[in-house]
Amino acid sequence: MVMSQIIKGKPVADAMKEVLTKEVEELKAKGINPKLTIVRVGARGDDLAYERGALKRCDSIGILTEVKELPEDINQEDYINELKKINEDPATHGILCFRPLPKQLDEEAIKYVIAPEKDIDCFSPVNAAKVMEGDKSGFPPCTPTAVVEILKHYDVDLTGKKVVVLGRSMVVGKPAAMLLLNENATVTICHSRTKDLQSVTSEADVLVAAVGRAKMVKENFVKDGAVVIDVGINVDENGKLCGDVDTDSVKDKVSMITPVPGGVGSVTTSILAKHVIKACKMQNNA
Ligand code: NDP
Repeated sequence: MVMSQIIKGKPVADAMKEVLTKEVEELKAKGINPKLTIVRVGARGDDLAYERGALKRCDSIGILTEVKELPEDINQEDYINELKKINEDPATHGILCFRPLPKQLDEEAIKYVIAPEKDIDCFSPVNAAKVMEGDKSGFPPCTPTAVVEILKHYDVDLTGKKVVVLGRSMVVGKPAAMLLLNENATVTICHSRTKDLQSVTSEADVLVAAVGRAKMVKENFVKDGAVVIDVGINVDENGKLCGDVDTDSVKDKVSMITPVPGGVGSVTTSILAKHVIKACKMQNNA
Protein backbone atom coordinates (compact mmCIF):
# COMPACT_ATOMS: atom_id res chain seq x y z
CA MET A 1 0.00 0.00 0.00
CA VAL A 2 1.34 3.44 -0.95
CA MET A 3 0.24 6.76 0.47
CA SER A 4 -0.83 8.65 -2.59
CA GLN A 5 -0.22 12.35 -2.97
CA ILE A 6 -3.20 14.38 -4.16
CA ILE A 7 -1.67 16.75 -6.70
CA LYS A 8 -3.86 19.81 -6.87
CA GLY A 9 -4.09 22.30 -9.69
CA LYS A 10 -3.98 25.42 -7.53
CA PRO A 11 -0.24 25.42 -6.76
CA VAL A 12 0.39 25.01 -10.51
CA ALA A 13 -1.96 27.89 -11.36
CA ASP A 14 -0.41 30.06 -8.61
CA ALA A 15 3.12 29.46 -9.90
CA MET A 16 2.01 30.26 -13.44
CA LYS A 17 0.20 33.40 -12.31
CA GLU A 18 3.37 34.85 -10.84
CA VAL A 19 5.30 34.40 -14.10
CA LEU A 20 2.44 35.52 -16.36
CA THR A 21 1.68 38.66 -14.33
CA LYS A 22 5.31 39.78 -14.76
CA GLU A 23 5.16 39.13 -18.50
CA VAL A 24 1.99 41.25 -18.80
CA GLU A 25 3.62 44.07 -16.80
CA GLU A 26 6.60 44.01 -19.18
CA LEU A 27 4.30 44.18 -22.20
CA LYS A 28 2.29 47.03 -20.68
CA ALA A 29 5.50 48.95 -20.02
CA LYS A 30 6.04 48.81 -23.81
CA GLY A 31 2.49 50.09 -24.42
CA ILE A 32 1.15 46.65 -25.40
CA ASN A 33 -2.08 45.42 -23.76
CA PRO A 34 -2.72 41.70 -24.25
CA LYS A 35 -6.39 40.97 -24.90
CA LEU A 36 -8.60 37.89 -25.13
CA THR A 37 -11.91 37.94 -27.01
CA ILE A 38 -14.36 35.14 -26.28
CA VAL A 39 -16.94 34.28 -28.94
CA ARG A 40 -20.03 32.71 -27.41
CA VAL A 41 -23.24 31.69 -29.17
CA GLY A 42 -26.25 31.77 -26.84
CA ALA A 43 -25.83 31.13 -23.12
CA ARG A 44 -25.11 27.46 -22.40
CA GLY A 45 -24.44 26.75 -18.74
CA ASP A 46 -21.06 25.06 -19.25
CA ASP A 47 -19.87 27.88 -21.56
CA LEU A 48 -20.88 30.47 -18.96
CA ALA A 49 -19.14 28.56 -16.16
CA TYR A 50 -15.90 28.28 -18.16
CA GLU A 51 -16.21 31.92 -19.26
CA ARG A 52 -16.47 33.14 -15.65
CA GLY A 53 -13.31 31.23 -14.75
CA ALA A 54 -11.44 32.47 -17.84
CA LEU A 55 -12.40 36.12 -17.28
CA LYS A 56 -11.43 35.95 -13.60
CA ARG A 57 -8.07 34.35 -14.38
CA CYS A 58 -7.22 36.81 -17.17
CA ASP A 59 -8.30 39.75 -15.03
CA SER A 60 -6.10 38.63 -12.13
CA ILE A 61 -3.11 38.47 -14.49
CA GLY A 62 -3.84 41.83 -16.13
CA ILE A 63 -5.10 40.55 -19.51
CA LEU A 64 -7.95 42.57 -21.07
CA THR A 65 -11.05 40.59 -22.02
CA GLU A 66 -14.15 41.00 -24.12
CA VAL A 67 -17.07 38.64 -24.68
CA LYS A 68 -18.80 38.69 -28.03
CA GLU A 69 -22.19 37.13 -27.34
CA LEU A 70 -23.96 36.07 -30.52
CA PRO A 71 -27.65 35.11 -30.85
CA GLU A 72 -28.44 31.42 -30.49
CA ASP A 73 -29.97 31.29 -33.99
CA ILE A 74 -27.10 33.08 -35.77
CA ASN A 75 -26.50 31.81 -39.30
CA GLN A 76 -23.24 30.63 -40.84
CA GLU A 77 -22.55 33.80 -42.81
CA ASP A 78 -23.12 36.13 -39.85
CA TYR A 79 -20.98 34.00 -37.54
CA ILE A 80 -18.14 33.98 -40.07
CA ASN A 81 -18.41 37.75 -40.55
CA GLU A 82 -18.23 38.33 -36.79
CA LEU A 83 -15.23 36.02 -36.49
CA LYS A 84 -13.46 37.73 -39.38
CA LYS A 85 -13.95 41.13 -37.71
CA ILE A 86 -12.30 39.84 -34.54
CA ASN A 87 -9.52 38.23 -36.60
CA GLU A 88 -8.78 41.64 -38.07
CA ASP A 89 -9.10 43.64 -34.84
CA PRO A 90 -5.52 44.57 -33.87
CA ALA A 91 -6.50 45.04 -30.21
CA THR A 92 -7.42 41.33 -29.87
CA HIS A 93 -4.48 38.90 -29.60
CA GLY A 94 -6.28 35.71 -28.59
CA ILE A 95 -9.67 34.33 -29.65
CA LEU A 96 -11.61 31.59 -27.87
CA CYS A 97 -14.65 30.28 -29.78
CA PHE A 98 -16.89 28.20 -27.54
CA ARG A 99 -17.64 24.79 -29.02
CA PRO A 100 -19.54 22.74 -29.88
CA LEU A 101 -21.28 25.31 -32.07
CA PRO A 102 -25.08 25.02 -32.53
CA LYS A 103 -26.28 22.66 -35.25
CA GLN A 104 -26.96 25.34 -37.89
CA LEU A 105 -23.27 26.29 -37.90
CA ASP A 106 -20.73 24.18 -39.78
CA GLU A 107 -17.78 23.82 -37.44
CA GLU A 108 -15.78 22.00 -40.12
CA ALA A 109 -15.89 25.13 -42.29
CA ILE A 110 -15.56 27.70 -39.50
CA LYS A 111 -12.39 26.14 -38.10
CA TYR A 112 -10.61 27.34 -41.26
CA VAL A 113 -11.77 30.94 -40.65
CA ILE A 114 -10.22 31.66 -37.24
CA ALA A 115 -6.78 33.28 -37.66
CA PRO A 116 -4.27 30.59 -36.57
CA GLU A 117 -2.02 33.18 -34.86
CA LYS A 118 -4.95 34.22 -32.61
CA ASP A 119 -6.39 30.72 -32.14
CA ILE A 120 -5.32 30.08 -28.55
CA ASP A 121 -7.33 26.86 -28.00
CA CYS A 122 -6.50 24.86 -31.13
CA PHE A 123 -9.67 25.29 -33.20
CA SER A 124 -7.74 25.82 -36.44
CA PRO A 125 -6.32 22.78 -38.28
CA VAL A 126 -3.06 24.73 -38.55
CA ASN A 127 -2.62 24.53 -34.79
CA ALA A 128 -3.73 20.89 -34.71
CA ALA A 129 -1.02 20.12 -37.27
CA LYS A 130 1.57 21.97 -35.19
CA VAL A 131 0.72 19.73 -32.22
CA MET A 132 1.47 16.72 -34.45
CA GLU A 133 4.72 18.26 -35.67
CA GLY A 134 5.83 19.28 -32.18
CA ASP A 135 6.08 22.84 -33.58
CA LYS A 136 6.15 25.06 -30.51
CA SER A 137 5.00 28.16 -32.42
CA GLY A 138 1.40 26.89 -32.31
CA PHE A 139 -1.30 26.68 -29.67
CA PRO A 140 -2.21 23.18 -28.47
CA PRO A 141 -5.61 22.87 -26.78
CA CYS A 142 -5.62 24.20 -23.22
CA THR A 143 -6.81 21.06 -21.37
CA PRO A 144 -4.13 18.61 -22.57
CA THR A 145 -1.51 21.34 -22.18
CA ALA A 146 -2.65 21.65 -18.54
CA VAL A 147 -2.05 17.90 -18.13
CA VAL A 148 1.59 18.29 -19.19
CA GLU A 149 2.02 21.45 -17.08
CA ILE A 150 0.80 19.60 -13.95
CA LEU A 151 3.15 16.66 -14.57
CA LYS A 152 6.10 19.03 -15.00
CA HIS A 153 5.18 21.09 -11.93
CA TYR A 154 5.18 17.96 -9.77
CA ASP A 155 8.49 16.80 -11.29
CA VAL A 156 7.12 13.71 -12.98
CA ASP A 157 9.82 12.70 -15.44
CA LEU A 158 8.16 11.57 -18.67
CA THR A 159 11.22 10.52 -20.66
CA GLY A 160 10.93 6.87 -21.61
CA LYS A 161 7.93 6.34 -19.33
CA LYS A 162 4.94 4.24 -20.35
CA VAL A 163 2.03 6.65 -20.63
CA VAL A 164 -1.50 5.49 -21.40
CA VAL A 165 -4.08 8.02 -22.53
CA LEU A 166 -7.66 6.86 -22.09
CA GLY A 167 -9.74 8.69 -24.75
CA ARG A 168 -9.01 9.86 -28.30
CA SER A 169 -11.06 13.06 -28.77
CA MET A 170 -9.57 16.01 -30.65
CA VAL A 171 -10.13 18.19 -27.57
CA VAL A 172 -8.29 16.03 -25.04
CA GLY A 173 -7.12 12.49 -25.78
CA LYS A 174 -5.35 12.77 -29.14
CA PRO A 175 -3.52 16.06 -28.48
CA ALA A 176 -2.63 14.89 -24.94
CA ALA A 177 -1.00 11.81 -26.48
CA MET A 178 0.98 13.97 -28.95
CA LEU A 179 2.12 16.44 -26.28
CA LEU A 180 3.26 13.57 -24.04
CA LEU A 181 5.05 11.98 -26.99
CA ASN A 182 6.82 15.31 -27.53
CA GLU A 183 8.02 14.95 -23.91
CA ASN A 184 9.61 11.63 -24.93
CA ALA A 185 7.08 9.35 -23.24
CA THR A 186 6.14 6.04 -24.84
CA VAL A 187 2.47 6.60 -25.45
CA THR A 188 -0.47 4.23 -25.93
CA ILE A 189 -3.94 5.57 -26.75
CA CYS A 190 -7.01 3.61 -25.62
CA HIS A 191 -10.65 4.10 -26.63
CA SER A 192 -14.04 2.41 -26.58
CA ARG A 193 -12.88 -0.36 -28.96
CA THR A 194 -9.70 -1.21 -27.05
CA LYS A 195 -9.69 -4.88 -26.08
CA ASP A 196 -8.86 -5.85 -22.52
CA LEU A 197 -8.56 -2.24 -21.44
CA GLN A 198 -7.40 -2.97 -17.90
CA SER A 199 -4.42 -4.99 -19.05
CA VAL A 200 -3.24 -1.97 -21.10
CA THR A 201 -3.91 0.75 -18.51
CA SER A 202 -2.40 -1.28 -15.68
CA GLU A 203 0.97 -1.20 -17.47
CA ALA A 204 1.08 2.60 -17.33
CA ASP A 205 3.58 4.59 -15.29
CA VAL A 206 1.36 7.58 -16.02
CA LEU A 207 -2.34 7.19 -16.77
CA VAL A 208 -4.33 10.08 -18.25
CA ALA A 209 -8.08 9.47 -18.07
CA ALA A 210 -10.27 11.46 -20.48
CA VAL A 211 -13.28 9.25 -21.17
CA GLY A 212 -16.21 11.15 -19.68
CA ARG A 213 -17.43 8.11 -17.67
CA ALA A 214 -17.95 8.74 -13.96
CA LYS A 215 -15.50 6.76 -11.78
CA MET A 216 -14.79 4.21 -14.53
CA VAL A 217 -11.12 3.75 -13.65
CA LYS A 218 -10.94 1.40 -10.65
CA GLU A 219 -8.14 -0.17 -8.66
CA ASN A 220 -7.65 -2.99 -11.23
CA PHE A 221 -6.93 -0.39 -13.99
CA VAL A 222 -3.81 1.01 -12.36
CA LYS A 223 -0.30 -0.16 -11.64
CA ASP A 224 1.23 0.14 -8.16
CA GLY A 225 2.83 3.56 -7.80
CA ALA A 226 1.35 4.97 -11.03
CA VAL A 227 0.73 8.69 -11.52
CA VAL A 228 -2.91 9.33 -12.47
CA ILE A 229 -4.21 12.46 -14.16
CA ASP A 230 -7.99 12.62 -14.12
CA VAL A 231 -9.33 14.92 -16.84
CA GLY A 232 -12.95 13.81 -16.56
CA ILE A 233 -15.68 16.10 -15.32
CA ASN A 234 -18.81 14.10 -14.57
CA VAL A 235 -21.65 13.96 -12.12
CA ASP A 236 -21.93 10.86 -9.93
CA GLU A 237 -25.03 8.97 -8.75
CA ASN A 238 -25.47 11.48 -5.89
CA GLY A 239 -25.29 14.49 -8.20
CA LYS A 240 -21.74 15.33 -7.05
CA LEU A 241 -18.96 16.39 -9.41
CA CYS A 242 -16.49 13.56 -10.03
CA GLY A 243 -13.79 12.47 -12.43
CA ASP A 244 -13.26 9.43 -14.65
CA VAL A 245 -11.27 7.81 -11.85
CA ASP A 246 -12.77 6.23 -8.75
CA THR A 247 -10.36 7.99 -6.41
CA ASP A 248 -11.35 6.01 -3.32
CA SER A 249 -10.71 2.76 -5.15
CA VAL A 250 -7.23 3.67 -6.49
CA LYS A 251 -5.85 6.00 -3.86
CA ASP A 252 -3.94 3.38 -1.86
CA LYS A 253 -2.28 2.04 -4.98
CA VAL A 254 -1.13 5.07 -6.98
CA SER A 255 1.67 7.49 -6.07
CA MET A 256 0.01 10.70 -7.28
CA ILE A 257 -3.47 11.59 -8.43
CA THR A 258 -5.20 14.81 -9.43
CA PRO A 259 -8.49 15.60 -7.66
CA VAL A 260 -11.81 16.46 -9.36
CA PRO A 261 -12.71 19.24 -8.90
CA GLY A 262 -9.49 21.16 -8.19
CA GLY A 263 -7.17 19.33 -10.57
CA VAL A 264 -6.76 19.72 -14.35
CA GLY A 265 -9.74 22.09 -14.64
CA SER A 266 -8.12 24.65 -12.36
CA VAL A 267 -5.01 24.86 -14.56
CA THR A 268 -6.81 25.08 -17.93
CA THR A 269 -7.65 28.80 -17.67
CA SER A 270 -4.03 29.57 -16.70
CA ILE A 271 -2.92 27.89 -19.93
CA LEU A 272 -5.48 29.99 -21.79
CA ALA A 273 -3.96 33.16 -20.27
CA LYS A 274 -0.45 31.92 -21.11
CA HIS A 275 -1.49 31.40 -24.73
CA VAL A 276 -2.99 34.91 -24.98
CA ILE A 277 0.32 36.39 -23.79
CA LYS A 278 2.30 34.21 -26.20
CA ALA A 279 0.02 35.25 -29.10
CA CYS A 280 0.37 38.90 -28.10
CA LYS A 281 4.16 38.67 -28.00
CA MET A 282 4.30 36.95 -31.39
CA GLN A 283 1.99 39.52 -32.99
CA ASN A 284 4.06 42.40 -31.61
CA ASN A 285 7.52 40.84 -32.00
CA ALA A 286 7.88 41.55 -28.28
P1 NDP B 1 -15.42 12.63 -25.72
O1 NDP B 1 -16.74 12.05 -25.36
O2 NDP B 1 -15.27 13.46 -26.92
O3 NDP B 1 -14.35 11.43 -25.83
C1 NDP B 1 -14.34 10.38 -24.93
C2 NDP B 1 -13.31 9.36 -25.35
O4 NDP B 1 -13.34 8.29 -24.41
C3 NDP B 1 -13.56 8.75 -26.72
O5 NDP B 1 -12.34 8.64 -27.42
C4 NDP B 1 -14.16 7.39 -26.41
O6 NDP B 1 -13.80 6.38 -27.34
C5 NDP B 1 -13.51 7.06 -25.09
N1 NDP B 1 -14.37 6.18 -24.30
C6 NDP B 1 -15.66 6.38 -23.96
N2 NDP B 1 -16.11 5.34 -23.23
C7 NDP B 1 -15.09 4.48 -23.12
C8 NDP B 1 -14.95 3.22 -22.49
N3 NDP B 1 -15.95 2.63 -21.83
N4 NDP B 1 -13.75 2.60 -22.57
C9 NDP B 1 -12.73 3.17 -23.23
N5 NDP B 1 -12.80 4.36 -23.85
C10 NDP B 1 -13.98 5.00 -23.79
O7 NDP B 1 -14.94 13.42 -24.41
P2 NDP B 1 -13.82 14.57 -24.26
O8 NDP B 1 -12.51 14.07 -24.71
O9 NDP B 1 -14.34 15.86 -24.77
O10 NDP B 1 -13.81 14.71 -22.67
C11 NDP B 1 -13.40 13.65 -21.83
C12 NDP B 1 -13.66 14.04 -20.40
O11 NDP B 1 -12.88 15.19 -20.07
C13 NDP B 1 -15.12 14.44 -20.11
O12 NDP B 1 -15.46 14.01 -18.81
C14 NDP B 1 -15.09 15.95 -20.15
O13 NDP B 1 -16.09 16.54 -19.34
C15 NDP B 1 -13.72 16.22 -19.58
N6 NDP B 1 -13.12 17.51 -19.97
C16 NDP B 1 -12.46 18.20 -19.00
C17 NDP B 1 -11.87 19.40 -19.26
C18 NDP B 1 -11.09 20.07 -18.16
O14 NDP B 1 -10.71 21.24 -18.28
N7 NDP B 1 -10.78 19.35 -17.07
C19 NDP B 1 -11.99 20.03 -20.58
C20 NDP B 1 -12.58 19.18 -21.59
C21 NDP B 1 -13.15 17.97 -21.26
P3 NDP B 1 -14.30 6.38 -28.89
O15 NDP B 1 -13.44 7.41 -29.57
O16 NDP B 1 -14.02 5.00 -29.33
O17 NDP B 1 -15.75 6.75 -28.86
